[in-house]
Amino acid sequence: MIGTENEILKSVGQFIAKKCNNIVIMSHENPDGDAVGSAVGLAEILQNNGHNVSIIFPNDYPYFLKWFSSKIEILIYDNQKKNIEEKMKKADLLFCLDFNEVKRAGKLKKQLLEFSKPKILIDHHLQPSLFCDYIISEPSYCSTAELIFDTVHKLNLASSINYNAAEALYTGILTDTGSFSHNISRANVFRVVSELLRYGINADKIHSNIYHNFSVERMKLLGYCLNEKMEILTELRTAVISLTKEEQAKYNFQIGDYEGFVNYPLSIKNIVFSALFIEKEGLVKASFRSKGSFPSNKFSKDHFNGGGHLNAAGGESSESLDETLGNFKHLLMHYKHQLINTKI
Ligand code: 5GP
Ligand code: MN
Repeated sequence: MIGTENEILKSVGQFIAKKCNNIVIMSHENPDGDAVGSAVGLAEILQNNGHNVSIIFPNDYPYFLKWFSSKIEILIYDNQKKNIEEKMKKADLLFCLDFNEVKRAGKLKKQLLEFSKPKILIDHHLQPSLFCDYIISEPSYCSTAELIFDTVHKLNLASSINYNAAEALYTGILTDTGSFSHNISRANVFRVVSELLRYGINADKIHSNIYHNFSVERMKLLGYCLNEKMEILTELRTAVISLTKEEQAKYNFQIGDYEGFVNYPLSIKNIVFSALFIEKEGLVKASFRSKGSFPSNKFSKDHFNGGGHLNAAGGESSESLDETLGNFKHLLMHYKHQLINTKI
């Protein structure tokens, strides 16, 4: 929490106590499972509590997240500019979820900055910048979804949690922990999960909806990446994969198709750092994953204008894909000592 916990919860509680507020919930660009799950979860809870709630994202989210039971509409700025601008004009309150700096709002950055009513951030990334009036930031949490569950209890809104909210919040926790493989050492994660399961959600089905729902092309693209594109820099305990626009087109690339690819090389013995570079229109998107103390977020912040968590971060480069790869490998030489000494 920034400010005392009681002060912030009291203020947020007072805003929510007024029924029939128009509330907008937004999250970051390239929304992932935690962005979508925490937004849908909070929206359901606030709607059950008597508010008019809209969810907005800067750009579209992956197909393997389009199965939620919630019927609350999700507006995408890319296709619904006018509609979103109207909603923002009418809104009494804006929630920002799962991001810690304005830049991550992407195409909604202007809307966010110009919003003049109270803004509340709920997030689990380190060191949030102060772009909201009320900041609930808990970097020890595995996901924003987990934090929302605890926050709504503190706001005395637990009775508004329903099946749809539980399903969405569970999804945020599931995806941000890589299906319960990282950031899972706090007992609270499993306490929250066990409480969510009491709402009757089907965890097996949710897992299948997300992880057993890929296209054939996506599976083949993964095979191609691991077989033909993965470079192992043994001395530097690093693996790197890159994909050109042509390669993505060849495998009929859909939004979210490369999500998770960057994690695979970390299962190789002795690899402590993995990087994935994706060529996009006018920029290269970077994803970094690490083990132990090697700070992916600091590396990304210092060299790729990005950030994230200690072991999972992202950023971008405005150089060409080849130049980006060359620079990355060159940069790694400066981290050789740190990489060699990283304890897993
Ligand atoms: P991913 O590699 O899955 O896109 O992102 C991993 C983590 O890094 C997420 O926590 C995400 O919020 C963060 N992240 C991804 N891209 C960026 C970026 O461009 N800037 C910042 N600050 N964080 C990012
Ligand atoms: Mn998250």
